Amino acid sequence: MLTDLHIAVIGGDARQLEVIRKLSEMDAKLSLVGFEQLDHVFSGSSKKGINELEFSELDSIVLPVKGANLSGEVETIFSNEKIILTEEMLKQTPDHCIIFSGISNQYLDAICKEANRKLIKLFERNDVAIYNSIPTVEGTIMMAIQHTDITIHGSNVVVIGLGRVGMSVARAFACLGAKVKVGARKLEDIARITEMGLYPFFTDDLMKEVSDADIVINTVPALVVTAAVISKMPLHTVIIDLASKPGGTDFRYAEKRGIKALLAPSLPGIVAPKTAGSIVAKVISQILIEELKQGKE
Ligand code: NAP
Repeated sequence: MLTDLHIAVIGGDARQLEVIRKLSEMDAKLSLVGFEQLDHVFSGSSKKGINELEFSELDSIVLPVKGANLSGEVETIFSNEKIILTEEMLKQTPDHCIIFSGISNQYLDAICKEANRKLIKLFERNDVAIYNSIPTVEGTIMMAIQHTDITIHGSNVVVIGLGRVGMSVARAFACLGAKVKVGARKLEDIARITEMGLYPFFTDDLMKEVSDADIVINTVPALVVTAAVISKMPLHTVIIDLASKPGGTDFRYAEKRGIKALLAPSLPGIVAPKTAGSIVAKVISQILIEELKQGKE
């Protein structure tokens, strides 16, 4: 439980509501900034303007996925208030105050460093990435069904990358009966792919592995699905690129060749915003319990 902890949730979108719901359920005292147009009332919470926030009482500040922009502005969809988070505000918080954000940038890094407050970038954490791979896989399956006229069962699927997303995707497509090949560049990953009962290859050899591909799923955030690779694919191949923008596919060449190539970012927030929010909430509450409650005891 988070009883006696005062947490400010500043800005955010629908995903943040799940975070608020979970923190409220865990008995935290919540100050919600940037939510005045939200009708729902969460127990133990009060809506405030940024200037009404008692920074000196905060155990933690939870920012939205993007944190703040380079001017310090925090995005919100439930308010017209312009919310700017500053170094001076953070300096007023107690030394133990933890700042959570999905990702960060130079501005947020700098103000947390100057104020000497711990910044936790949730999307850089292994646990969040692994939990998030679950809705990502479901979104990928949805896209594969929508954009092909064959079953996944029996299809030839090439997955590129055996990271947090690649491993979950490869396993799920194999479980659905696809013939899955996985490209990786480390010998230990080649060993793991073999252990999983899938066909391993080195990503550098991708060109040789796509001639019978029905679906190519890229998780590598670098240009690996090059024009040369695409030129070896059958025309019916569908490329689903999960890597963060701009993806790892030569989309211009794919279009020129008439191959369907889809960049599919942010699937967890699209296919399962509630789950995506509860993943973030679960990890935030685990960290707060570990770091703050133990510190107070
Ligand atoms: P990860 O665990 O870091 O895995 C990345 C994989 O790409 C690893 O196998 C890595 O190999 C490989 N790789 C990286 N750079 C490479 C290069 N230059 N050449 C060849 N292989 C390379 O990352 P992840 O958590 O699986 O996420 C993968 C991507 O998906 C990221 O861009 C992430 O932002 C994105 N993502 C998208 C969604 C969505 O909804 N579309 C959801 C979650 C994540 P090594 O281990 O050898 O470095």
